Amino acid sequence: MDPRHLFMDQRLAGKCAYCGGVPDTRDHVPSRVLLDEPFPPQLPVVDACAACNQSFSLDEQYLACFLECVLAGTTEPCDVQRSTVARMLRELPALRSRLAASRRTNEEGTIVWQPEVDRVRRVVTKLALGHMAYELYPRHEDPTAVFFAPLSTLGESQSGAFEDTPFRDIGVWPEIGTRAFMRTVIATGQESMPTPHGEAWIVVQANRYRYIVESDESKVRIVLSEYLACQVAWE
Ligand SMILES: [Zn+2]
Repeated sequence: MDPRHLFMDQRLAGKCAYCGGVPDTRDHVPSRVLLDEPFPPQLPVVDACAACNQSFSLDEQYLACFLECVLAGTTEPCDVQRSTVARMLRELPALRSRLAASRRTNEEGTIVWQPEVDRVRRVVTKLALGHMAYELYPRHEDPTAVFFAPLSTLGESQSGAFEDTPFRDIGVWPEIGTRAFMRTVIATGQESMPTPHGEAWIVVQANRYRYIVESDESKVRIVLSEYLACQVAWE
């Protein structure tokens, strides 16, 4: 069975993964701006309305560039690793100067980057809604918590808890036919990184993007560029 085409898709067709409105388009989750070419085959797609699809693209572009500049320590196009980002920095001087302005030196003389938190939160929430729609089913309630921080700033126990998937002996099992269920019974061919309890992060592109959806439907975790840890929860 092709995991991109499950019966649940027919049942859920007709709703934007983000707002629940009538979809007129399909959206890649994650968006390609967060990945490098060549793009992975079988990139997940969800139904989306054109308004949602467009409303996130500038924020996604911002986040892709911000992360890459933080990792490179500069907004110089020739010094960033991702060629897509280097091109955007060259072609979008306004974005580049906005990013350059977010680079500061703190009292200790350390260089810090101040993200535009609302934009990052919008992107992280959107990605989580997309993963939830693709793996389980669309949720349209606002999440109760949206967290994001550099992986390196998480303490040892926090980072362990983030990387791990807690084992549950009771709880809700994913519906038969959802991708979350399929992933527990078949190999999807995607690269995966098992946690100590055997559940696996789904690696969309190594070093660029991985995520995990907890099958009790309460949490999505995402790691961007092996730098930014994100968690979105509905509790
Ligand atoms: Zn929508």
